[in-house]
Formats: sequence, C-alpha cells, structure tokens
Amino acid sequence: MKFSLMKRNILLVVVLLTQSILALAKEGMWIPSLLSAVYDDMKAAGLQLTEADLYDVNHSSLKDAIVLFDGGCTGEIVSDQGLLFTNHHCGFDQIQFHSSLEHDYLKDGFWAMNPGEELRCDGLTVMFIVRMDDVTSRMREGIQNGMSMTEIDAIISKNRKLVEEEYKQNNPKLGLQIKAFNYGNQYFAIVTKTYTDVRLVGAPPGDVGKFGGDTDNWVWPRHTGDFSVFRIYADQNNEPAAYSQNNVPFKPAHFLPVNIGVVKEGDYSMVYGFPGRTDHLLTSYSVDFITKKSNPMRIDFRDQSLAVLKEKMRSSDEIRIKYAAKQSGIANAWKKWQGQQIGLTNIDAVKLKQDFEKEYQQKANQKGNEAYAGLLGEIKTVVTDMEVKNLKSQAFVEFVYYGPELFNFAHQYRDLIENFDILKAKGNLQPAIDKLKTAAKLFYKDFDLSTEKAIYAALEPMYTLKYSTGITDSKMAIPVRDAAYVNARYDKSIFRDSTSLFKLLDKFSKSSAKKMSKDYFYKQAVTMFDEYNKNLRPGLSESQKRLDFLMQQYTEGMMKMFPADYWSDANSTLRITFGKVEGSEPRDGELYKFFTTSDGILAKNATKNPDFELNDRLQELFRKREYGQYAEGGELHVCYTGSNHTTGGNSGSPALNAKGELTGINFDRSWESTMSDIVYNPEICRNIMVDVRYVLWVIDVYANADYLLNEMKIVK
Ligand code: GLU
Repeated sequence: MKFSLMKRNILLVVVLLTQSILALAKEGMWIPSLLSAVYDDMKAAGLQLTEADLYDVNHSSLKDAIVLFDGGCTGEIVSDQGLLFTNHHCGFDQIQFHSSLEHDYLKDGFWAMNPGEELRCDGLTVMFIVRMDDVTSRMREGIQNGMSMTEIDAIISKNRKLVEEEYKQNNPKLGLQIKAFNYGNQYFAIVTKTYTDVRLVGAPPGDVGKFGGDTDNWVWPRHTGDFSVFRIYADQNNEPAAYSQNNVPFKPAHFLPVNIGVVKEGDYSMVYGFPGRTDHLLTSYSVDFITKKSNPMRIDFRDQSLAVLKEKMRSSDEIRIKYAAKQSGIANAWKKWQGQQIGLTNIDAVKLKQDFEKEYQQKANQKGNEAYAGLLGEIKTVVTDMEVKNLKSQAFVEFVYYGPELFNFAHQYRDLIENFDILKAKGNLQPAIDKLKTAAKLFYKDFDLSTEKAIYAALEPMYTLKYSTGITDSKMAIPVRDAAYVNARYDKSIFRDSTSLFKLLDKFSKSSAKKMSKDYFYKQAVTMFDEYNKNLRPGLSESQKRLDFLMQQYTEGMMKMFPADYWSDANSTLRITFGKVEGSEPRDGELYKFFTTSDGILAKNATKNPDFELNDRLQELFRKREYGQYAEGGELHVCYTGSNHTTGGNSGSPALNAKGELTGINFDRSWESTMSDIVYNPEICRNIMVDVRYVLWVIDVYANADYLLNEMKIVK
C-alpha cells in the first residue's frame, strides 16, 4: 500500500516537475505587484478582491497591513492604532528577554493592561513595503548571449548603481533593496519603510503559545496558540522614530478586520507575508547532497546539543529561561530537517529530479536550445567540487554558532586585542571596551557555565575529530570529553564568567590584551575563524557564484523549454500564496481533519508529556467549556490547515479569507509538508494556522485583556 501511495505521489510530482516550474495553482509564492499570471486562478478559487485591493501603490491595500517582523517573520496590523499580531515564536526573543524568575513571561504570559505597561523592545523592527517594481530589463540591460560570468557581473553592478541612484533620489528617506529572484532571472527594486519603536503588548502563557513544544512542532494535529501581540509607535507625523515616550501609536494605511465567523473546509484561503527561502529549482545533485550529507550532519550536531539542553533546562527554571530562545532556535530547524529527510526519501526526490533532468537534457539537445545543453554537466561538477568545503563550512557554523558559545564570544575581542595600540592612539579604546561590556552583560544574562561545558563536551570531539575534516561516515565512533578535559579548558578561561572578564576589562591594559590573547577559547576561535574566513569561505563563495550563474541559465532554460506558470523561489520578499482551507490524507488510511479543538488540548495534557502542560486556569476554562462568543457548534476551534504553499518567514503571516479578513495566523506546516521547500506535493502539503477565534479567546476570556478587542474591527 505504501508503495502504491508513493508511486501516486511520485507521478504527481513528476507531472509537476515536467511541467517545469508550476502547474497547480496551489504551488507557488506570488509576487503581489505581478499577480496577473495567477489572478484568474485566485478568483476561480473564490477570491472576492481586486488585484488593487491586494496590492496598490497609490491607494491603501492589503499590503499596507503586512510587515516583515524582526527581520525574519511576518506580522499584520489589526487596528488603526498600530496593534500587530505575529507568532509567539516570532516574539519569543522579546518575551524571553523580558522574562526573569520574578516575571516569568515565558511561562505565565504577559499582558499590558494599558499602553503604559507595554514593554519597550530595543532592536526590534517592522518593515513595510512601499512598492516593489520589476526592474529586470534594466538590471540585465547590456547582457548578451555568450558573455562570461565576469562580464555579466560587471554589467549587473553597473546597472544596480544606476537603478539605486534613481530610487534613492525619488525616495531619499526610504529604504531600498534591489533583489535578485531565481538566480537573477528577475530583479525587483523594493522600497521599504522601517519602524523601530515596537512594544510588546501581550503574550499568552507558554502552555498556549508553545503548547506541544518540540513534540508537536512541525506536526499535525496541532493545538498551539502560537501568537503574540505588539504595537508599532511613530513620531507625531506617523513617521519612524527611535523609542520615545512622546511617540504615538502608528496609524496604518490599512488594517485587517478580524473575522470570528465559521471557517469551512473548501473556503478560499490565502497567506500574505515574507516567506524566507525555498529551493524548488535545485538539481538532483544538490538534493542528493542535502539528503545524504548535509542534513544528517546538522541533525547529528543538534541531537547532541538538544539532549544536553533538555536535561539542563528541566533541572532549573533559571537555566530554562536563559536557554529558552536558544533551544527553540536549535530545535526548530533540527526537527524540520528530520521531516524533510523522511519526505524527500519517501517521494524519492532525487529520482524525480533526475527524471526531469533527463527530459530537460533531451529538449536542450534540440536545435535552438544549444545554450542549455551543457549546463547540467557543469552544475554537477561544481556541486560535487563544493561538497567537502560545504560540509566543513556547515560544520563550523553548527559548532561555533549553535554549539558552545565561548568561541564566538571570545572572537569578538579580536579587534581589541589585535588593534590595542591603534585604538588607544586614536582615543577609541574606551568606547570599544564599553561596547564589549554592554554586549557581555547581555551575553552572560543568558549563559550558564555548566550547560556550556556539557554542550562543549558533546560537540567538540564531533567537530574536531570528524566534521571539521569533512568526514561523513555515520558509524565513526566519537568520544565524549570527560570532566577533567573540559574543566581544564573552561576553568582557566577569562571568558568563563562575567566576574573574571569584567575584572580584566575594568582595567584593560596592553598586558590584559596579551593575557586574553593566550586564552584557550580566544586562541582556538582565531584558528577556527581564520580557517573558515581565509581558507574555506573565499573558495566556496567563488564556487557558489559560479553555481548561481549556471543556475540562472538552467532556470532560464526551464522558462523557455517548459513554458508554464512560473514562480520565483522565496527570498524574504513579500508574497501571496493561496489555496483552500483543507485537511489531507498524509498516508494510506489516514485522514487529517482540517481543524482541532480545545478538547484535543485536554486529551494531550492527559498524556502527561511535559510538552503538554496546562495551567489550572486553562484546564478549568476548557473543562467548563467557557468559550464566550468564539465557539462553533459547542467547540472552541484552535488550529486549522490549508493548502497554502508557505515556508519559514511566513511565520506570523495573516491567514485571510476571500474578503481579505483575518481568520488565522500562519505558524507551521505538517510533518509531511516539511519537504515543500524543495518538492511541493499538493496532495499532502498543508500549512498550519492558529484560528483567530482562539487568539481572541485567549486575549478576552483567558487573559481578560479584552480592552484590546475594542480597537479591532471584529466581523462575522
Ligand atoms: N514554524 C515554521 C518555522 O518556524 C514557520 C512556518 C513554516 O516554515 O511553515 O520555521
């Protein structure tokens, strides 16, 4: 049975791939300023808005209610006073930052009961899109067939400058991005406006916002109330301004009405936001590398660190709070990669790609397509050549940025140590020290030496003895470093705690710099960073440039030889994806309903898995079925799924109905969908949204922060 399902899936995806880039309306992340290619499909699917309602540069439109939140997520405006919804996991860093043993907002949640109680969030930004213009012809002007990579590069950078100048002249106060889409087959000039005074208004308790933890992450059926609430502030002219008590709530050009009516299976559904990255054009060579080497290595690293974190975080509330955001960051991708591995293997993604490549090659061999005939061979060579370097580089990132923290931390002292005399001569020494001290205070706030040591003990031998050398043999036995080995490094290090570091920084002299330069973590960090930056990175970026150059032509060949609807891989730019509210049939004999209810929360809680903990108040409200105006047929709907093609970055994106009203907040995909960044299977790929009725129920009934509802436009 499994085999026949797999065959069916394979057939389906073969159809997709051989039609090259897209056949079904559901796959794809559409550029809102270029919707004409899919607008008819959207209408046919049930959309009741005009193209201009979705995106307009002269009048307000839906796009004016959507922001890039904190550089990597999406948020949406839900009131005329700048009130914003995003995911709990998108606001997590801020919630964690404001949490302490006395104010455990991670656990208990947080609600500002009036504007004065909202929490300032330094460093948090939200970015609006003012306009996005297709500047492909201008960026590629002057490029001719047969030009070399260097020649093309030179033309693109010359053109980029011209386009940039023009845009900057016209919009001197606004931000500008000139972004390449699909390896440079399209270019867009994106004019942006970024607000920097954003405050935390509310966060549900962890039992809602992170309900299900790692057990349920990337999994359906799901019961997570993954939302948090912020407010954007502006100066008196509604313009961006640094935090000030004189700032006033931002007045948006558009905000989303919130629809608390029934959501039915088959309803039109659309997600509007900033998907981060997809790779649907990758060749079989890259997919093979990802599934056989890169994913297994990264999972291996994180298996180890997460095992340590699990034990440590359960042992102490202090450690739990300190490491909550770090743990989430590590665990999120770790679990996604595992789902991706299963999905891509089950569907035999490499074989699917190979089949498509055979067809591509046949067409490329025909007259008129000669330019594309040699590409696959060249791509294979480059991908293969890059493998070892890529692995080493990814291993470095895993170890230094997601493993023990002292290497990266110590490395930040390099300028101070190496340029001590220059800094001093120029009078820049004290400012440099002060800056490092500020960073150090933040660092130690969330640092626990025993946790750090345990992570080091597990990861250091893996890195040093295996992955830093490019070995991928999964059976290679790796020792765990014993306490004596670990202590010998940490206990003598200046960086082990803030006391020893600040003692040195408070009276920092040339001899302090010398002492620091001999510290194990500093020395090791210099060696590792030099190896990475001087030996690994340059070659790798050259090869990557070459690969992108080849991929640009390969993709151009697809557009020409397999004419079909075309969509550009996600690249953190504003996109719309549409589909239906629907469940799925992930495996033979299994049916996923499209929604979950609070009864499921109680049922999961009864399993006693700590990821499903539920505080007394929630238990009581659910048991008494106190659902307020948010019930449907006597049930409180919690999450629902749809066939919207989403990815990371769509976290926090509004889930909209046919009229552009908010019915949910997108936050995840099902386990079977995690492969959709590479191969999208419309039969089983589903995005997961938290039902907006559950969001309002938490705000209103659970948290009694119902005053927030007064500023929203609630419709049915
Ligand atoms: N939960 C996902 C993440 O954290 C976001 C949405 C998605 O990738 O589908 O990356």
